[in-house]
Amino acid sequence: LQGYVGFANLPNQVHRKSVKKGFNFTVMVVGESGLGKSTLVNTLFNAPLYPSKEHAPLTEESPKTVDIQVLSTDIEENGVRLKLNVVDTPGFGDFINNEESWKPILRTIESRFDAYLEQENRVNRSKITDTRVNACLYFIAPTGHSLKALDIEFMKRLHNRVNLIPVIAKSDTMTHEEIAAFKERILLDIAHHDIKIYHAQHYESDDIETINETKDVMSKIPFAIVGSDKVIETPDGRHVRGRKYPWGVIEVDNEDHCDFVKLRQMLIRTHMEELKEFTNDIHYENYRTEKLIALGY
Ligand code: GDP
Ligand code: MG
Repeated sequence: LQGYVGFANLPNQVHRKSVKKGFNFTVMVVGESGLGKSTLVNTLFNAPLYPSKEHAPLTEESPKTVDIQVLSTDIEENGVRLKLNVVDTPGFGDFINNEESWKPILRTIESRFDAYLEQENRVNRSKITDTRVNACLYFIAPTGHSLKALDIEFMKRLHNRVNLIPVIAKSDTMTHEEIAAFKERILLDIAHHDIKIYHAQHYESDDIETINETKDVMSKIPFAIVGSDKVIETPDGRHVRGRKYPWGVIEVDNEDHCDFVKLRQMLIRTHMEELKEFTNDIHYENYRTEKLIALGY
């Protein structure tokens, strides 16, 4: 099953039309260097990612602060085509003064809205390319304390523009008890600062299974993740993706060990369509409206 992602398993998640035409899904990863962003991207999609031809917009800050890198892959499963794009943001939080680290990232998100808006206004709208960012994974350092000023600033600046999904990076460096306490603390901080993170909806039409699945996924946020692109052998002789310690093995794909599987399921299977909907109906629509008002309409 190498390279198998699983997005085509739930056709009702994806409108028939987009199934035929193929569709774009864009995930952004943000967090300080060394927190495992690149590793997670490789772990997540089980597919080789190549630098995208799509041009990342250069901002005047780009060279000296945050870099914007786009990686893409085309996947086809059961006749469904998906173009998966990952926007990586190396350099975030790496400077002596990180007060403006969020700026080039916000600019990237908004310039993608602008590109979409421009295509919508064309006479021929049959070939719209959608590069809008559908989800932003924000990596929180596994300190066990609270959110940093940098984390709070970033999330506050971005929450009205993108579906924010906080994750605890390198959670294999913490015990289960520490993770549980840290998650609670993070959610309190998020509530205290009025930060809006992505929250899946329940619909009247949902069956009980779907509702339970959604509740289960949501209960894991912020996802405690472990990334690894290495296959290692467990003491009982299985070969798994994971990380090896003197006291044992942490398995990336084992739900008892970390929330990686849940995060992946949410992004690629259960909530992909909703993340796309929220991007269009909430974030893009707000941006468009604000822009029109600013222009005096
Ligand atoms: P980035 O700078 O955020 O892209 O981080 P990288 O993906 O380059 O990872 C930085 C270092 O952390 C590498 O040595 C990785 O092997 C290691 N690393 C990545 N993910 C994890 C993880 O989940 N747990 C641990 N313990 N180390 C990790
Ligand atoms: Mg990296």
